[in-house]
Amino acid sequence: MKAKFASSCVACGEKISQGKEIAKNEQGKWVHKHCAPESEELL
Ligand SMILES: [Zn+2]
Repeated sequence: MKAKFASSCVACGEKISQGKEIAKNEQGKWVHKHCAPESEELL
C-alpha cells in the first residue's frame, strides 16, 4: 500500500515519504516495501 503520511522505516532507518510503497514487517511495523522480509503484495 502507499504511505498516507511520512514515517520512518524500522528496517533501514531511513525516512518513508508520503505516497511511497510500504509494507508491514513481521512485528507489525511499517517498513519500505523493499525492506519487508516478505511482500504479500506480490501475490
Ligand atoms: Zn527501509
